[in-house]
Amino acid sequence: MSDDQKSIKIDPKSEDISTFSNFTQIQQQKVEIFASLDFSKKTLTGSITTTYKYIDKTSKELILDLKGPKIEKVELIENEKITPLQFRIDLNNEFKDSLGTPLIIKLPDFQNETPELLKIKIDYITDENCTGIQFLEKEQTFTKQHYFMFTQCEAIQCRTLFPIQDTPSSKILVEATLEVEKPYKFLFGGIEIESSYNEKTNKIITKYTQKIPIPSYLIALACGNLEYKKISERCGVYTEIGLGDKAKYEFEDSEKFIETAENYLGRKYDWEIYNLLVLPFSFPYGGMENPNLTFVTPSLLAGDKSLSNVIAHEISHSWTGNLVTNKNWKNFWVNEGFTIFMERKIAEILYGDDMKNLESLVGYEGVLKDIEMLGEDSTYTCLNPDIYGVDPDDGFTTVPYEKGFQLLFYLESLIGKNDFQNIMKNYIDKYKFLSIDYNGFKSVYEDYVKNKVNKGEEILKEIDWEKWINSKGKPFYKFNFESKLGDDAVKLGDKFLNGNCSSEDKNVFVNWHTNVKMYFLKYLIKNIDKVNNDVYDKLRDVLGFKSEHYNMEILNLWFQISLKTKHDDFIEDVKKFLLEIGRLKFVRPVYFSWYELQPKESKEFFEKNKMVYHPFARRILSMKLK
Ligand SMILES: [Zn+2]
Repeated sequence: MSDDQKSIKIDPKSEDISTFSNFTQIQQQKVEIFASLDFSKKTLTGSITTTYKYIDKTSKELILDLKGPKIEKVELIENEKITPLQFRIDLNNEFKDSLGTPLIIKLPDFQNETPELLKIKIDYITDENCTGIQFLEKEQTFTKQHYFMFTQCEAIQCRTLFPIQDTPSSKILVEATLEVEKPYKFLFGGIEIESSYNEKTNKIITKYTQKIPIPSYLIALACGNLEYKKISERCGVYTEIGLGDKAKYEFEDSEKFIETAENYLGRKYDWEIYNLLVLPFSFPYGGMENPNLTFVTPSLLAGDKSLSNVIAHEISHSWTGNLVTNKNWKNFWVNEGFTIFMERKIAEILYGDDMKNLESLVGYEGVLKDIEMLGEDSTYTCLNPDIYGVDPDDGFTTVPYEKGFQLLFYLESLIGKNDFQNIMKNYIDKYKFLSIDYNGFKSVYEDYVKNKVNKGEEILKEIDWEKWINSKGKPFYKFNFESKLGDDAVKLGDKFLNGNCSSEDKNVFVNWHTNVKMYFLKYLIKNIDKVNNDVYDKLRDVLGFKSEHYNMEILNLWFQISLKTKHDDFIEDVKKFLLEIGRLKFVRPVYFSWYELQPKESKEFFEKNKMVYHPFARRILSMKLK
């Protein structure tokens, strides 16, 4: 191995330790994606043409992130002139399994006339190792008539589609030209410009643009046989054929959520159009905030809008995350903590403090469970995890969401809601279109409090930022999320635990909002030692878990209670559930609870069915079930 063949290292002190790319020397400005989809081969074939800006004109090479796709050729584009460029792939990189195999392109020697900008075109083809893409068989879709494909690029999966500077530190304009056979609709997270049909090839070509600079993790593609229903002037929803009306009803409040966020943050929705796409069941998340095209799990189609807080969350990302972006994955809470804060602010404005506090309580119980699962000492239990050399998704839990929210809730409580709202407005205004770490917010907060808040200096002295950011384990601060709805849930929980329940309690339960039901069930899980056989039978029979139709948020919690109390009367329902939804929030705790009861059966079941899950879900589940 000669000197210039050496493996690429990542400096532990660099801005983003999850990228190999030398983006501080030469920086991507705009990418033009061409992708042709072939369902029979399960491939995307095409090119990515990127315009780079030289930051350091002495740069001799361009290093890009890559994990999976084959590279056919690399070319320099200068007006009409096309020059092939030499490249190599660092196949033996020490982090090849977690961060990939960097692509190193030798830059031309321009002598002393290095241009400002550089345009490079790379031809790629994906294969089954490209874990950011999932191709679904017809049987894995709602209609079972057509294939489906979707991408999930967050956190570092964009590099499994094509080579790119896969870091949220660098934002890009994107244009996409997508090709697929009729009757499929090939979607992109941007605004559609035009679509044409080529009779000879039977292919539809659609062009999109994303005019607001976005980080690579927000690049999103999806393709299926789809219908579209308009919700309002700027909102709409794509679904597989036959689900449109149901989805339209479920997500009717989208416009109201956008307006509420606009009013609170004092900034108009920047992205013009807000569309949703309901994915097949294997989508591993609740939602993904892809710009102009939020992806959502079909488990939200509960029939009663009871799970619409996920939509409020994804809409909030239009400001926190998509406009102001975490600059690296150590600061993931800068995306998610702020977005949970906004999601609950929308709940507070529309439904009152009680509902907001209840959501906070449910989240609080959730994060305690996650911390217990991770272990109090785990780096993933703090807001500043050590992720050097690992895939940042390995530590995916609610910690950055809930601990991030708790910090913001605390900061708001110190100065009051009005002043905090002004800070949020200033924050979005100052950092829109940029990528930052939490110090960006800290400086806006401190600046405002010092200058505008009574006794501001004293308040600032109280805040131990270092402790909030770096403390591992359970939250050290005692929160008081006062909620009558939460109290009602605890009261009914105690009634069951003490054996004093009656058949009338079913009416109370059934009429509760999903959040109250969830808090009730989480209260029982917290007190699982007290759920003896009598209590269990009463819960099952009085609340009708064998007969009533409950949504998946409720069902997954009930299954956990059933399995944790060592009952097997729901095993068949559990199996059915695990094949109906691939959302990690549900399948992980249900699988893991089942594993505690029946390790052999649960592992065999997972082994047999694991290919129905998204590659990411498969990997997380395999950690325990392999
Ligand atoms: Zn989010």
